[in-house]
Amino acid sequence: MHRNRAQRQDDRDTRIPVPTPARRTETAAGGQVLTMQRTVGNQAFTHTIQRTAQDDLVAYASTWMETSNVKYKSRSGDLQRVDQAVTTWLTGGSGVPGNLDLNEAQLNGIKGAVTRWRTGKGPSRRDAFIDELVQRVDAVLAAIGQVRAQRARNDALGAKYSQIDPAMAGHARRQAQNITFDPTGNRFHEALTDDRDDQGQLSPAALTVLRQVAAENLGKALEFIGGVDPGGLSRDELDKLMNSPTNVNASTGQTTFPELRAYLDSLPATGDPAPESRGTRDTQQQVHDVGGTQLTTYTDPTDPQAGRRVQAVITAITKVQAQGFDVPPLRAYLPKYGRNLAVQAGMIRPGQQKMHRAEFFPPNNLVGSSELADNPLTNKLGDQYQYLSTKLAEQSGDDSMTTTMIHELGHYLHYHQNAGKFLDLTSTTWTGAVGGSAHQDVSVYAAQNPREFVAEVFLGQVYGEQYDAQVLEAYHALGGPRPGQVPTTS
Ligand SMILES: [Zn+2]
Repeated sequence: MHRNRAQRQDDRDTRIPVPTPARRTETAAGGQVLTMQRTVGNQAFTHTIQRTAQDDLVAYASTWMETSNVKYKSRSGDLQRVDQAVTTWLTGGSGVPGNLDLNEAQLNGIKGAVTRWRTGKGPSRRDAFIDELVQRVDAVLAAIGQVRAQRARNDALGAKYSQIDPAMAGHARRQAQNITFDPTGNRFHEALTDDRDDQGQLSPAALTVLRQVAAENLGKALEFIGGVDPGGLSRDELDKLMNSPTNVNASTGQTTFPELRAYLDSLPATGDPAPESRGTRDTQQQVHDVGGTQLTTYTDPTDPQAGRRVQAVITAITKVQAQGFDVPPLRAYLPKYGRNLAVQAGMIRPGQQKMHRAEFFPPNNLVGSSELADNPLTNKLGDQYQYLSTKLAEQSGDDSMTTTMIHELGHYLHYHQNAGKFLDLTSTTWTGAVGGSAHQDVSVYAAQNPREFVAEVFLGQVYGEQYDAQVLEAYHALGGPRPGQVPTTS
């Protein structure tokens, strides 16, 4: 559940006044993409069409105000009222084109003044100027009408988008502010602005779209191929560097670059300096029966750590089963390299692109990065780890890979038991009291959004953590997995 692709960055806008967890966190795919959606805002509505008409009027009116004063020495009271109305708009509404009401009122003010000027007047040598002024004012008013209609359409889409399953409305909400909706170009908008069913739940069509997006995102996540560039170091130098005090995990005392162990262990016995190495798409597929759960793993045949990482997933499933949960068949993708590591100037530098540390993709796919092994996230709020997976690994002595995978299994079972609710939590933030205290009651990461809360509470329960009634009520309202529950959706 860790994400890194900028375009998949998402739901970081909680209202909770606690530090946001680190960027690369444990996350369910599908919560993503607020950044993508949350572009623009009202600015978008001061559309080209409005701008163009307005610029024309500003240019004309400015010139007219400047030159007509000189040209026509005597200005009647009525003409001065036209001047005044033009000035009012030039120094008022024209500076805030997004304020449609103000612009409309001030432009109509110009027209009113013109009507008054014309009343009882014969032909005037100023007629042509005035006619052109009115023409340009009308053009802006027409553009404002179009923008207003567009806003109304967007507001209607926003009202649909911010709907949520009534059972979850006490805890989760989806904010429509500042989003320009594009249901034909944006799959999330398409799904989340679709008409809901009679119970206020996502329509079957919306669920289908969100599942398609998840499948596409899994494909994109697996496109990433990491590697190691030892920068000319010998294997001994690299070994020393990866275990130097600056590269040690504060919780486990192990290296923060566990994939370098896999790299070093897979080198041929002789030869220095160490060569560059890339991961491969050539994966080895294995099917395991884990207490009746079919687990299919995809690993790199050259990864000496593959067995250990598969074992971490098996242990995670076993622990979840031991709490009475049915775990349906699933797949785990465990590539050898989840990052690009390059040694430069005596430092190991991870490249900017990487896979998330761990991630669940509906319907039944887990992806775990090689950076997980003995290397949990150690960010703290006060003296508490922000991630339950870190705290529980430290307390229990289990590998943090296992605790992280149990968090992911929480997402999986959440989806499996309540697919509609899981998907309806896409791009949601907290509302109500539980989110405000989740950082104390569960973990900082649980406070990030309702979907992460469910996975964190699930993980805590597997390790025997006790939660108060409020937390459990929210967990169940949000569709948190229950032991032995027959799936409602497949
Ligand atoms: Zn998560």
